[in-house]
Amino acid sequence: KEKTTYFRQAITQTPDFPKPGIVFEDIFPIFTSPPHHEALIRAYELQIKELGVGTPDVIVGLDARGFLIGPTLALRAGCKFVPVRKAGKLPGKLETVTYDKEYGADSFAIQTASIKPSDKVLVVDDLIATGGSAKAAGELVKKCGGQLLGYIFIIELTGLKGRDKLDAPVYTLIESQ
Ligand code: 5GP
Repeated sequence: KEKTTYFRQAITQTPDFPKPGIVFEDIFPIFTSPPHHEALIRAYELQIKELGVGTPDVIVGLDARGFLIGPTLALRAGCKFVPVRKAGKLPGKLETVTYDKEYGADSFAIQTASIKPSDKVLVVDDLIATGGSAKAAGELVKKCGGQLLGYIFIIELTGLKGRDKLDAPVYTLIESQ
């Protein structure tokens, strides 16, 4: 509860952005406050501890705001950070997956060699809405042979039931409608 209030104070909500009817949750202000930034990373670390499966081999961050959290966590845990990126951004041999967005489809890619078969993998991002991007990322991890430990997000838009799409444990710091 305290944790929720603490982070909620630093996250701004902007109605009708980027389009009418959407309330945009902006998590960037967390990173303008070193105490909030530190507490965020600590909160993710505690959540990883509570998974009870030891240190992950890989932390996967989703394009783009997962890149704000994943590398710091990986550095502190002493494990690999691996990006999942929108199509067309990564070189080399890739695994790709196409997923549905509100308007049309989008593609995600991961570098095949970045995850070794049986690596324990945790996926992080800032927010889960429909769960479409998280599900796609989970599929990429599995295509590489990785073992999906779960997902951690700052915010869950509970009304969209995104977590129901995912077949690994989902942890969130804040719930929003
Ligand atoms: P989903 O695939 O679950 O529908 O959407 C989640 C993705 O969209 C995440 O990568 C997240 O960064 C982005 N996203 C959707 N709505 C918001 C929002 O209100 N605030 C932020 N920061 N990201 C959002």
